[in-house]
Amino acid sequence: MIAQLVVASTRAELDDAVARLRLDGGTVAFVPTMGALHDGHAELVRRARAECANVVVSAYVNPLQFGAGEDLDRYPRTPDADAAIVARAGADVLWRPGDDDVHGASAGPAERAGGLGAVLEGLARPGHFDGVATVVARLLRAVAPDVLYLGEKDFQQLAVVRALVDRLGLPVRVRAVPTVRDVDGLALSSRNAYLDADDRCRAASIPRALDAATTSVAAGERSAAAVQAVVLDALTDGGVQDVDYVAIVDPLTLDPVDRLDHPAQLLVAVRVGATRLIDNLRLDPPHVPRETP
Ligand code: AMP
Repeated sequence: MIAQLVVASTRAELDDAVARLRLDGGTVAFVPTMGALHDGHAELVRRARAECANVVVSAYVNPLQFGAGEDLDRYPRTPDADAAIVARAGADVLWRPGDDDVHGASAGPAERAGGLGAVLEGLARPGHFDGVATVVARLLRAVAPDVLYLGEKDFQQLAVVRALVDRLGLPVRVRAVPTVRDVDGLALSSRNAYLDADDRCRAASIPRALDAATTSVAAGERSAAAVQAVVLDALTDGGVQDVDYVAIVDPLTLDPVDRLDHPAQLLVAVRVGATRLIDNLRLDPPHVPRETP
């Protein structure tokens, strides 16, 4: 059955809708998004629906997380389709706030992402994670959910938000949802809409490169540099020339690792045409059996 979706525009409408959900009792799940929804977002909503009594989704393109010259103005906006997708996935409330509802009179970021936000994407997009931390803190204070659903697709964002929730002592559990991929393995992303047919073909080498890393680690490779070289080769072979980084890091600290003696996270960022794409994968080195004496 499709739940009756309440669409809230203002903060007052949100407060009213959440108060009604709270009357019924049960946990409140929250799925923050920037709209232009696809099946990756829907999967977050479906997980939330399966695990919590109430589900609130926000669709808000947060200007604070876009740098000068980035795609804030042309970021895809599909409000009607979004409402249909979240209704079908079982959400109770879709909040589409305006800038004032979220940021009020404050012009800039109020939260800092710290060291976790300074590396990888943070180097290419200075200030991006301060903007993310600020909007997530404000959305969490507005919705006051019990559980926050985030995608592993944005792995660094997940790390930044987990640290933020800890630092602010916010009473919310963070649930990470595995990346949803297209049939050819490309991670679903609202920005895939920018890719023309040639770009789309080249972009498909990203998941192939991640697979190549898995294969190499499964075959016993332990040198992070060697695995990075395998990934880079697969990307270049697939026509991706503009590689921003191929990094292998500790999943919690995001510090680079040299040896794959423990599980690590492989993160890549590339530019295909004018579109920046990111992806990541956990690398689990197979257990090295102990030598028998
Ligand atoms: P966005 O609208 O891109 O800001 O994403 C909103 C949420 O959806 C974030 O927690 C993302 O990590 C998550 N998300 C985006 N794409 C995917 C995907 N392909 N699979 C799973 N989660 C995703």
